[in-house]
Amino acid sequence: NLILAFESSCDETSVAVIENGETILSNIVATQIKSHQRFGGVVPEVASRHHIEQITECISMALAEAQVTYDELSAVAVTYGPGLVGALLIGVTAAKTVAFAHNLPLIPVNHMAGHIYAARYVKPIEFPALALLVSGGHTELVYLAEPGKFEIIGETRDDAAGEAYDKIGRVLGINYPAGKEVDRLAHLGEDTFDFPRAMDHDDSFDFSFSGLKSAFINTVHHADQIHETLDRNNLAASFQQAVVDVLADKTVRALQAFPDVHQLILAGGVAANQGLRDRLTTELAAFKNVELVKAPIKLCGDNAAMIGAAAYVSYQQQQFGDATLNAEPGLSFAYRA
Ligand code: ATP
Ligand code: MG
Ligand code: FE
Repeated sequence: NLILAFESSCDETSVAVIENGETILSNIVATQIKSHQRFGGVVPEVASRHHIEQITECISMALAEAQVTYDELSAVAVTYGPGLVGALLIGVTAAKTVAFAHNLPLIPVNHMAGHIYAARYVKPIEFPALALLVSGGHTELVYLAEPGKFEIIGETRDDAAGEAYDKIGRVLGINYPAGKEVDRLAHLGEDTFDFPRAMDHDDSFDFSFSGLKSAFINTVHHADQIHETLDRNNLAASFQQAVVDVLADKTVRALQAFPDVHQLILAGGVAANQGLRDRLTTELAAFKNVELVKAPIKLCGDNAAMIGAAAYVSYQQQQFGDATLNAEPGLSFAYRA
């Protein structure tokens, strides 16, 4: 089985060739970060234009690197949501074109399911599993009862974790996306500010990061006004400690509430965070029957390999799309618990 997978939901144009849902033959990622940096975030119009310019070259490169021709493909997969509508449309249109020109089945993939399936490249998912999905636009705890079934048991009520990283990073003068650099600074500092850990002790599995973001920004602005200079490393460390504390505490409580879970999957762009990876590794030592599966750091950010892995499950379940497939910018998992 060979799947040609497309991802274009945000600011990465990516095309991959995946064998049997488990081996990456190629995974071309063309990032647009440089074009968006001067605006401090992703500009949708600019993103769409880049996707159009990049996508055919990405297809050629992905097939060439995998040494695969169109005739050998089994299916074409594509992210159809959630994401920026104009950006998604480029991938969806490209995938539909290849599928119908070469008479191949088309597999629509939810971008967030894709993020979870990046963990598939470490080892097969064992169900039931729990996923901590932390990215630029989402922060969710997802229960996976069986392949293809995703149930959100908790999610952020305001900002996503990655969004909070990017916004506080901006205050520290760090370019978008700031997560990786804040993570680096955090390891050089200490938690001296004691920022709020919202909802840490309530009964839900929901999160809130906007209060933390505001507390951080207010602290920095207040210091500016009185011409005081704060230690950037300690600021970063304090912010990161607050984020990691809440993410880890809620995840531990979810694991206690769902004792049938075999694996905890850590996925999404923020899953690359070293503080979070280390903390969960420590916490999971107490759960003898739960295996921690961290998505490979290289596959935490947006890429088409993760889309191909998720698509393979749909292929096995014979769940295909057709020419009416459209971009769904607000796509969510089927239901919330
Ligand atoms: P979504 O997947 O929710 O649609 P997205 O695709 O824009 O959003 P991802 O590509 O999954 O988001 O992740 C990007 C985010 O991950 C950015 O907010 C970035 O700052 C953050 N990030 C990347 N590396 C790290 C890190 N080491 N620590 C914290 N955050 C990080
Ligand atoms: Mg991105
Ligand atoms: Fe993403």
